[in-house]
Amino acid sequence: MAAKTAITPTRADDYPEWYQQVIRAADLAENSPVRGCMVIKPWGYQLWENIQRALDDMFKATGHQNAYFPLFIPMSFLEKEAEHVEGFAKECAVVTHHRLEPDPEGGLRPAGKLEEPLIVRPTSETIIGATYAKWVQSYRDLPILINQWANVVRWEMRTRMFLRTAEFLWQEGHTVHATADEAIEETERMVEVYRDFAENWMAMPVIVGSKTPLERFPGAVETLSIEAMMQDRKALQAGTSHFLGQNFSKAQDIKFQSVSGDIEHAWTTSWGVSTRLVGALIMTHSDDDGLVLPPRLAPAQVVIQPIYKEDSRDDVMAYVNSLRDELAAQTYAGAPVRVVIDDRDIRGGEKKWYHVKRGVPIRLEVGPKDMAAGSVFCGIRNKPKSVGVPREEIVSTIGEKLETLQRELFEAALELRESNTVEIDNEADFRAYFNSKDEDQIAGGFAHCYFADEASLQPLLKELKVTIRCVPINSEAKQGTCFFTGKPTDQKGVFAKAY
Ligand code: AMP
Repeated sequence: MAAKTAITPTRADDYPEWYQQVIRAADLAENSPVRGCMVIKPWGYQLWENIQRALDDMFKATGHQNAYFPLFIPMSFLEKEAEHVEGFAKECAVVTHHRLEPDPEGGLRPAGKLEEPLIVRPTSETIIGATYAKWVQSYRDLPILINQWANVVRWEMRTRMFLRTAEFLWQEGHTVHATADEAIEETERMVEVYRDFAENWMAMPVIVGSKTPLERFPGAVETLSIEAMMQDRKALQAGTSHFLGQNFSKAQDIKFQSVSGDIEHAWTTSWGVSTRLVGALIMTHSDDDGLVLPPRLAPAQVVIQPIYKEDSRDDVMAYVNSLRDELAAQTYAGAPVRVVIDDRDIRGGEKKWYHVKRGVPIRLEVGPKDMAAGSVFCGIRNKPKSVGVPREEIVSTIGEKLETLQRELFEAALELRESNTVEIDNEADFRAYFNSKDEDQIAGGFAHCYFADEASLQPLLKELKVTIRCVPINSEAKQGTCFFTGKPTDQKGVFAKAY
C-alpha cells in the first residue's frame, strides 16, 4: 500500500490537481468572485513580500529607483506601436464609462461615456514612455533606470492560480539609454539578476536564453528569459528582460541631443517578474505532503511547538521562549533567523502537519522529556523523520541547517532537470519524446535540438504541444543540422511543453 500523504491526489496521480490542493493546504491563496482573479492570503502574501524585498534590494544595488505610474492607459497610447497593440489587444480590459446610474429596468448601469476609452495596463511601456519623452532632452538626462511595483491586467482565458491570472502583481523595470550597447548591457544585467534570484533565493535552477522571434514580447527586438523545469517536466518562463531597441522611443518620441549635438532616438529596455514566481516555487519544490519553502524566502524559517500538560505548561513555555530568543539571535543569509512559537491549543499531530503542509523549513517540538534531556525534537522539511538534537547544537547550527536545506532543494531541482534533458537530432525521436495524448500527462522534459527555421517547425510543435523555450546564451552550440529539415544551422534551442 502506498504511504499516506497529506495531499490528495499525489503529484504522480494528478499533477494539476495536486498543485491546486497544495495551494489550498498551505493556505496561500483562493479563487475570488472575479473570474481569473485570486485572493492572496497572508501566508502567500508574506512569501511574495519576501520575494519583493530580495529583488528590490537587487534592483537598487544595480542602480535602479522605484516610481509609480497610472493604472490606466489612454487607448491611443497603445495604438502607437503596431506589434505591441497586436500582441496585447486580445487581452485588454477597457474602461468606457466613469460613473453608474440607476437603470430604469432595475439595478445600476454604466453612464458618463468617456471620450477616449482607457485601458487597464497590461504592461506599462506606453504610458511610461510617454512620460519619459518629457523627461529626456539631452544625453545628460540618460540613463533613466526606473522600476515600478504594480498590478496589471491581462484578460487571460485559461487561468491557474499564481501561474496565469487575469490580474497579477509584478514589477516592471523601464530604462532609457543613449546607445544600443548600453541598453543591451542593461537587458543582460537584469536577466542575470533574475537568474541570481531564481537560483540563490528560490533554489530554482534556470536556463537563461533568448526567445525566438515568434515567442518574443510584442514590440521587442530581443527577449531574454529565465526558464525553469517544473516537477511534471514542463517548462515555466519565470522572468523576462526585453531589449526594445528604438521601437518604443520612435513610437513615443523619446529623443535626446547627443554629445555631438545630433538629435537621436533613445534605446529602451523593460523587464519583469510576477506572482508567477510563487507558482514556480510551489511546483519546483513541493511534495505529496504539501508546500516546501526554500529557507531564504520562508516567512517563518523555524516553528517551535511546545508540548505540555497543564502542570508542565509554565516550565515548557519558559524553555521555548528562551530557545526562541537564542535562535532569533542567530543569523542566516545576512538576517536574523525568523522563529515563531506555535502554542495554539490543538493536537500535536495536527499542528505538526499544519506546518509541514505550509512548508516551514524546520520544526522543533519541545516537551517535558526533551527539556529533561536538554534537547529538541527536530524535523527538517525535506527529511522524512524527526530526530533529537541537543539544545546547544540546534542553536549553534541553525544557520547551517537552513543553508543545507536551501542547497539540497537546489540540487534536487537541478538533478530533476538534468535527468530529464536530452539531445535530439531527428524528428522520429522528437515525436517519441514528446508524444502524449493527454496534455496534462507527463511527457518528455527538455530537448536540446539544433533547428534552422522556426516557422517551418510550427505545425510539428503545435501538433505535439511543444514550444521553443529559448536559445540559451553562453551555449557551446557549434555548427549542427536541423533535427527537422536537415539544414545546417548554428542555433540550438531548448524545446519543451510549457505552462
Ligand atoms: P511579459 O511582460 O509578458 O514579458 O511578462 C513579464 C513577466 O510576467 C514574466 O515573467 C511572465 O512570466 C509574467 N506573466 C505574464 N503573464 C502573466 C499572467 N497572466 N499571470 C502571471 N504572470 C504573468
